[in-house]
Amino acid sequence: MNINKDPIKKIAIVGGGTAGWFAASTLISVFKSSGLQIELIESEEIGIIGVGEATIPPLISVLHGLNINLVDFIKATQGTFKLGIQFEDWHTKGEHFFHPFGSIGKPIDGYDFFQCWLKCRAEGDKTPLMAHSPETILASKNKFFPPFDVKNTPLERADYALHLDSGLAGKFLRDFSEKKGVVRTEGKVETVQQHPNGDIKSVTLASGQVIEADFFIDCSGFKGLLIEETLKVGYEDWSQYLPCNKAVTVQTDNVGEPAPYTVAKAREAGWTWRIPLQHRTGNGYVFCDKFISDEQAKATLLDSIQGQPLMEPRFIPFTTGMRNKTWHKNCLSLGLAQGFLEPLESTAIHLVTKSLAVFIRMFPASTHNETLVNEYNRAIRKDYEEIRDFLVLHYCTTARDDSEFWRSCQTMEIPESLQYKIDYYKVAGGLNIKAEELFQSTSWHAVFHGMHVEPSRYNPTLDTWQAEKLKSILAQGAQGLANICDKQPSHKQFIQQYCSAPK
Ligand code: FAD
Repeated sequence: MNINKDPIKKIAIVGGGTAGWFAASTLISVFKSSGLQIELIESEEIGIIGVGEATIPPLISVLHGLNINLVDFIKATQGTFKLGIQFEDWHTKGEHFFHPFGSIGKPIDGYDFFQCWLKCRAEGDKTPLMAHSPETILASKNKFFPPFDVKNTPLERADYALHLDSGLAGKFLRDFSEKKGVVRTEGKVETVQQHPNGDIKSVTLASGQVIEADFFIDCSGFKGLLIEETLKVGYEDWSQYLPCNKAVTVQTDNVGEPAPYTVAKAREAGWTWRIPLQHRTGNGYVFCDKFISDEQAKATLLDSIQGQPLMEPRFIPFTTGMRNKTWHKNCLSLGLAQGFLEPLESTAIHLVTKSLAVFIRMFPASTHNETLVNEYNRAIRKDYEEIRDFLVLHYCTTARDDSEFWRSCQTMEIPESLQYKIDYYKVAGGLNIKAEELFQSTSWHAVFHGMHVEPSRYNPTLDTWQAEKLKSILAQGAQGLANICDKQPSHKQFIQQYCSAPK
């Protein structure tokens, strides 16, 4: 049997936003030596979406894997550091909680830290859970830590991500890809040609130029020029679970020192974000237009910003959900063309790089292999569903009843898979998470705890421990962490010293 029937010699990527350029950078880095040709087509006239500025820690490993120097990347993208997300007013107005990266505490004699903390609390200890989270303490003091200098200290378990200017990130990745041999073609795709079996054969640009390839990657944004408009795979709409359907965004100048975290503040019909960069701040209001008008949303956003607007506010409509198939025939979709989950936990860029990692593991010898296509689609759907459930958790556990939107969140339908997680957690703090899931125990504990979802008891195996001994170990841990956090530089100082962008 010749498994290399129709070998893939050329890939065409349609779209040069963050998704397109991440795809080009990754594929050329992995497959350059095998002679794979990569051509990326983008249209300056159409432009990019220009939002997508908060990331999560896996990005750091992705950059490392591409051999991109982190400091160069931060300088080029006007980046700042992100220790987590500060959620304000989600459970009740006036309350806030922090979702940190890294881990909260560390196991004690093999016992899960959270269970140890639960037992201490049951025995009267009042130390907050987040007194054991390095990122939460650093963030509360506007500090950052030198990740290269924490060995054998409690900061060893701290983690971080970046805030970045997405337009500049695209430019950086374009430069990186072109230097390695990716061909960029400027132009607007006007028509798409298919083979008799439905595979994509070529795209034709407004200039009349025809670009053929063996495999296509659709990074054309929300419309999904290839995956939807041509291959018509269909879209699974998840608005019953995540009803927000629009964002209004504005960039402002900076006021004060940049915070080492994203702020996500619940509002009348959704939530606003604040993302500090070195040269400006990104702001936006994600809302459901069934509950407030565009004008009200814009007024709320402009009321919430701290600096002067640098642009007219811009509205972006969206539908939460994903394509029924994110790989179909000889076409893979990435980024907004693949699906959309609101940016509450900054997961979109991660889904691009994660999808690429899964695709590369399965990179087909030829364009036709149903087993690979099916397995890829299964794996990516699972990722989307897990993230969707985690996002829904932030809404369905609210106690806010001060607006129609929040009252509706309390009674809305939630996915069975999430209901199971909530029910299981409420018994004894159990988490049924698999190792490959994006959000691990720190994330679920942080949001459950922040939203007042509490286990009814701790795991009884902890009763082999004397409460006073456990309390003293925890107290020492919290004190050690507080002491070392105090000694760290401010976020601003750290950026100035190591990765200040040229003015
Ligand atoms: P785009 O940036 O829209 O790029 C599409 C590309 O396709 C462009 O180059 C365009 O020119 C090209 N194109 C389109 N049609 C044609 C054509 N006919 N011919 C030629 N070229 C064409 N993600 C995060 O990780 N963190 C966040 O904090 C975050 N916040 C977000 C906030 C909002 C409100 C929204 C809507 C999204 C957010 N995202 C976030 C998602 C993030 O913006 C996207 O995942 C990311 O920017 C990738 O976009 P993209 O490349 O898929 O699409």
